[in-house]
Amino acid sequence: MTEDVVIVGGGHNGLVAAAYLARAGLSVLVLERRAEAGGAAVSFRAFDSVDVRLSRYSYLVSLLPRKIIDDLGLRIDLRRRRISSYTPVGDGGLLAGTGNPASVGRDAEAWQRFYAMTGSVARSVFPTLTEPLPSKEELRKRIGDDHAWSVLFEQPLSEVIESTFTDDTVRGVVLTDALIGTFAPADDPLLRQNRCFLYHVIGNGTGDWDVPVGGMGAVTGELARVAQAAGTRILTGAEVTSIDPDGEVTYRIGDEERTVAGGHILANVSPSSLAALLGEEPGAQPEGAQLKVNMVLRRLPRLRDGDVDPRDAFAGTFHVNESYQQLATAYEEAASGRIPSLPPCEIYCHSLTDPSILGPAEQAAGAHTLTLFGLHMPARLFRHDNEGARQEALRATLRSLDSVLAESIEDCLMPGCVEAKTPIDLENELGLPAGHIFHRDLSWPYAEDGQEGTWGVETGHDRVLLCGAGARRGGGVSGIPGHNAAMKVLRSR
Ligand SMILES: Cc1cc2nc3c(=O)[nH]c(=O)nc-3n(C[C@H](O)[C@H](O)[C@H](O)COP(=O)(O)OP(=O)(O)OC[C@H]3O[C@@H](n4cnc5c(N)ncnc54)[C@H](O)[C@@H]3O)c2cc1C
Repeated sequence: MTEDVVIVGGGHNGLVAAAYLARAGLSVLVLERRAEAGGAAVSFRAFDSVDVRLSRYSYLVSLLPRKIIDDLGLRIDLRRRRISSYTPVGDGGLLAGTGNPASVGRDAEAWQRFYAMTGSVARSVFPTLTEPLPSKEELRKRIGDDHAWSVLFEQPLSEVIESTFTDDTVRGVVLTDALIGTFAPADDPLLRQNRCFLYHVIGNGTGDWDVPVGGMGAVTGELARVAQAAGTRILTGAEVTSIDPDGEVTYRIGDEERTVAGGHILANVSPSSLAALLGEEPGAQPEGAQLKVNMVLRRLPRLRDGDVDPRDAFAGTFHVNESYQQLATAYEEAASGRIPSLPPCEIYCHSLTDPSILGPAEQAAGAHTLTLFGLHMPARLFRHDNEGARQEALRATLRSLDSVLAESIEDCLMPGCVEAKTPIDLENELGLPAGHIFHRDLSWPYAEDGQEGTWGVETGHDRVLLCGAGARRGGGVSGIPGHNAAMKVLRSR
């Protein structure tokens, strides 16, 4: 059998690529190892006892360009959160509204200036992500702000944070965007934290993180619908076992081995998985560094801060023990092989913005979901005894959460409704290498090593392209590498 394009992996990026290509009239086959498409962008009924469909892995959308939504005619609803973030401090806290970062005390003016700067960078950089790669100099000119370029693209983020903000809590809130899924200190000379920060503040030119109504599965479901309506065939339970760079893909369904030939092969799997499928050396191994905890609550917990309504505090990103100093301590502890004693993490309640993921009985009973994303939990801590380390990390994380609440989170949980996903779980369930949520460390959104004018999806083989998070300008629920791989195929015809 021969297809114009075979897509290895049915993550949301593979589906975006499939939708563009099938709509352009190409025959497209998607091979997905799991029982359903979507990869890390899926909703699950994680607990048998309650009718709640949680975004099990990824949960907020910022980087999916309006252009892709419009091009593909996606019927999805991304809802802005009323509150951007809440950070408890002692018996008080910092509450920041969306677009209105209030109550950051004496750093308020610096905060406004800093985020005006990142907003301006966002508006220059974001439109380039769905175009061929600009050179470094072109991007720098496009940004047109030498100060912004130097502090975001050239110096470790610690420098601008420490010279701009005085308050340890405010510094930490800013730094968290640099550490999502990225195991690095604030002053990492490799600037991994800068790249992570950049992708967290440029989404659609605003950096807002919106709630996908119906959960992340609704986004993927709509992508699959559009791709299939255009003629894409999606084969689930189909694990690809090898790729021949001349265009032959071997896969297994149950005990049966099959092959298919493709004019192009788009790899939605990580670059290290692609190397293994091609029989090549995998290169540098990435490492994920987060603990994802999903919970269903009987009710929202009470706060120590009597001035803030929990419905406000939990609607945005609620920072837990993420001050600048606490982040540094947690990094040092994890780097020396220990689960952080006070794990920094952030939580958010999806159902406050979108109750549609709760069944009718759960809605009527006032139940809520709680999503927790823990930082500085590198795969190395879990590799030898994933089960034991998962329990230890979960206990430490819930203790950390309790330390900022007026009551224990356990008292608010629906019985049995808590699950934790370590980097090793993500590797086993989704094929993320060492649980790296972006397939590998994020890359700069400009050409390096003579890539000017390419789409950032090319590999050493003409017919084989990356179309997933590991491509240049990949990472996150963005569809961007899927779009870019499709453009590369269409423009080469
Ligand atoms: C816990 C967690 C929280 C996150 N939170 C957010 C968030 O809130 N917002 C955000 O923007 N991003 C978030 N991310 C990151 C984001 O989810 C990923 O970067 C994104 O889903 C990558 O999409 P993808 O389509 O490129 O790859 P994936 O989602 O990784 O999909 C790859 C697909 O390939 C399949 N596959 C692998 N090997 C094979 C094989 N041999 N044969 C066939 N199929 C195969 C996999 O099963 C999978 O379906 C999060 C990720 C995780 C894990």
